[in-house]
Amino acid sequence: MQLISDPSEMRRWSRAHHASGKTIGLVPTMGYLHEGHLRLIDNVRGQTDLVVVSVFVNPTQFGPGEDFLTYPRDLERDRALIRDRGGHCVFVPDTSDMYRSDPMVTLVAGPLADHLCGPGRPGHFDGVLTIVAKLFNVVEPDVAVFGRKDAQQARIITCMVQDLDFPIQVVVAPTVRERDRVAMSSRNAYLSPQERLAAGAIPRSLAAAHDLYRQGNNESASLIAAIRRVFGEESLIDIEYVAAVDPETLAPVLTADADTVVALAVRVGKARLIDNIVLGAGVDADEVVG
Ligand code: AMP
Repeated sequence: MQLISDPSEMRRWSRAHHASGKTIGLVPTMGYLHEGHLRLIDNVRGQTDLVVVSVFVNPTQFGPGEDFLTYPRDLERDRALIRDRGGHCVFVPDTSDMYRSDPMVTLVAGPLADHLCGPGRPGHFDGVLTIVAKLFNVVEPDVAVFGRKDAQQARIITCMVQDLDFPIQVVVAPTVRERDRVAMSSRNAYLSPQERLAAGAIPRSLAAAHDLYRQGNNESASLIAAIRRVFGEESLIDIEYVAAVDPETLAPVLTADADTVVALAVRVGKARLIDNIVLGAGVDADEVVG
């Protein structure tokens, strides 16, 4: 497995393999990998000849006071996991090679960032789009895979690829959950044992909305209230938002249907955690580990 940190070398690697007829898949990550990331590697390995995993904690998607400096990092462990999972190349650029000190032009996510996580994290999705576009330009993948756990991010990137004509197929892969259905996340490492236990309320709350919908209630307000009731019994969790949104525009809907995305962000101790379901599918439609 190749380890590359220089963007020019990365592009040379990709172009050499393309010239010999190979296809390339990209899995962009911020590292501290878990089974959710590794299944993205499995997913893309089935679709392309070669898999590149990028590991880069992107400063421009963190706001002031967010966890950029404390974000968990362990490159040695990540390298071993990627190698064991059949990745062919790990791209680990330095911040100074990805960003010159005074970038003049960045991407703007537009109205899709007006909803869900956008208002609470101003500029976050602009930073995500800018780094993903740069990774696309450096790696030049044929396929790139993203997790549905970050549904808004996946939607915004899908739209960027369409609107800016990137010749790349975007794949959105299912959320991978732990045994108690808590979505896997690098930020779960911030949780104390007590907080980790409390986090079980997140999938329980989404399952409550799914149950209510299956019983015939399609009013978003009732579904959101059902979720808030579950968190009402959990003193360690503070809600940032709960919403039922259209899967394409991400705008709130008054009446839900099977395609509606029910999404939330909460704070548990130092961690800000997000999760979502497609209402007709529910939590149990996702992948469970263990
Ligand atoms: P991150 O390293 O958290 O920026 O995530 C890198 C990629 O992994 C993104 O496409 C995420 O959506 C995806 N991802 C993170 N957690 C999960 C999960 N539990 N299930 C599926 N994909 C995930």
